[in-house]
Amino acid sequence: MKKRLSLEAFKSGILKGDRVVLSRAITLVESSLEQDARLASQLVQDILPATGKSIRIGITGVPGVGKSTFIESFGNLLLEKGKKLAVLAIDPSSQKSKGSILGDKTRMKKLSLNKNAFIRPSPAGDTLGGVAAKTREAMLLCEAAGYDVILVETVGVGQSETSVKNMVDFFLLLVLAGAGDELQGIKKGIMEMADGIVINKADGDNLVLAKKAKSTYQNALHLFPLSESGWTPPVSIASSITNFGLDKIWDMISSYEAITLESGFKEKNRSEQRMKWLEENLQFLLIHRFLESPQIQAKLASEKVKVQSGEVSPLSLARELMDLFFKD
Ligand code: GDP
Repeated sequence: MKKRLSLEAFKSGILKGDRVVLSRAITLVESSLEQDARLASQLVQDILPATGKSIRIGITGVPGVGKSTFIESFGNLLLEKGKKLAVLAIDPSSQKSKGSILGDKTRMKKLSLNKNAFIRPSPAGDTLGGVAAKTREAMLLCEAAGYDVILVETVGVGQSETSVKNMVDFFLLLVLAGAGDELQGIKKGIMEMADGIVINKADGDNLVLAKKAKSTYQNALHLFPLSESGWTPPVSIASSITNFGLDKIWDMISSYEAITLESGFKEKNRSEQRMKWLEENLQFLLIHRFLESPQIQAKLASEKVKVQSGEVSPLSLARELMDLFFKD
């Protein structure tokens, strides 16, 4: 095992934009060892003044919609514009397969070879809350290392979208054009979260369908109440194969950035996100400390049969455990 770097070495490496140190710092943040967790939280605190200056973009859509291909093409466009780009991913399924959605992302080949791009596979966490918290911290580390656009990719599963929505400035939904039944299968909640929708794979025979789908989505979006940012989510069509429409998506995000900076919404939103982050961390730390307590483990082990058999109600055992844990 490699020797752990000191706090100072982590800090100076990150602030210099050293990718190897950044990578090791993210590993530190992901570690579940108490000693690592303490160093990680000190590190995140120390680099905080150097964070916050990026545009944070969430990208979601069902598997197969073309997210990784899009990130490769869109990411390369951003690099051409002189941006430094970090790509992070949240994949709640990664823990089962022990792999990650970016693990086999050979399609991001070009991007991963560019020295101004940093691609990080999904952190393996034991709960989605944990994964999301770690992705947030990884995002801050990337910002401190000088990345000015952060793309956070999520698969359209479970709560991952809400988690990502809660950590980004702009949430982009990728969809496909169907044969007139576009909106079927798209969860209304996801559309409501989106700050922009991209009808993807608008190339070849699909182009006509994509144009049709665009108006269907635009009409559907008009039925939603105006969001707090005052922004009506635009619908764009694009292809990551021909690069058609990618520039327009960057224009969309840039104008959102300008408008929300001007109105103060960007800061307000980030401030609310920080409070959610605090809440998540509290829940996460509490439950871990609780379940790791030897006293709680012993009591649970001896009493759980009574809950299983129906003799004791789950609520009454839960309360008893709480009282035991918080007795001082
Ligand atoms: P993900 O699961 O959302 O990450 O989707 P992928 O990026 O892996 O893409 C799924 C499939 O769609 C792959 O076979 C891609 O080559 C194809 N694909 C992705 N983007 C486009 C596009 O813009 N046009 C076309 N025609 N195919 C695409």
